[in-house]
Amino acid sequence: MEILKLGGSVITYKEKPRTPNTEAITRLASEVATAGPRRLIIVHGGGSYGHPLAQEYSISTGYKSPNQMTGFSLTHQAMVELNKLIVDAFLDAGVPTVSIAPSSFITTEDRRITTVDFALISRAVEFGFVPVLYGDAVLDTALRFTILSGDQLAARLATDLGASRIIFGVDVDGVFTANPKLVKEARLIEELSLGQMKGIIKIGEALSTDVTGGMLGKIMEAAAAVQAGVEVQLVNALKPGVIHDALRGEKVACTWLRR
Ligand code: ADP
Repeated sequence: MEILKLGGSVITYKEKPRTPNTEAITRLASEVATAGPRRLIIVHGGGSYGHPLAQEYSISTGYKSPNQMTGFSLTHQAMVELNKLIVDAFLDAGVPTVSIAPSSFITTEDRRITTVDFALISRAVEFGFVPVLYGDAVLDTALRFTILSGDQLAARLATDLGASRIIFGVDVDGVFTANPKLVKEARLIEELSLGQMKGIIKIGEALSTDVTGGMLGKIMEAAAAVQAGVEVQLVNALKPGVIHDALRGEKVACTWLRR
């Protein structure tokens, strides 16, 4: 079984509120379809659907005032809306997707997933379905609510279900020596060991999130899965054919995270 995480930077235009990248979504659906049937779970991010509302109502840091209550629901509903676009596109392409809302069965404690039962998801995969989950606004036992990232969810699914691989589809070719969007000379790192990942996490934690972007968080979440024996591949899902080829086990420009 494998997990395909589609980043918010791929399926939406991050700078434009509630704007899907319809072309990318349609293409990715057909790439997964033509790669052929497989045991697969898809997790997608929030991009310009979940993030602006989560930020406006400060959902990730938990409950502080009553007006956040509707904000929590609005954030979830925005994700439901994006999820419908994704699932519809995959169904049109002939991929037997089923939508599963993370907030309906996952709680966190201080932002980390606690005990969770993935049996239904596992069964759906056994029966030939492709479950589609997403980053979501969830209940949190310490904070009342928070944001569960698609990255944390993908890593936890992979670890608990013994997946062989997580493919993170993002808008860059993988992990670079520096943020490739800011530093022209940044070079792609083809492989990182768990030890190297831990080094990056240590350095990254000392820097501001503006510098590290989303990549550091992805490496942090992936580390637990890699530790458990899951191979993690970071690829550019905005480049046509890359997700298809990665699913088929063909060589693509990427970063491998391996134990
Ligand atoms: P998504 O929302 O699609 O899951 P993010 O936007 O959170 O992905 O993370 C990917 C982004 O991380 C890239 O677009 C890039 O700008 C940024 N980034 C920061 N540092 C690096 C790095 N060293 N290598 C690759 N990407 C980086």
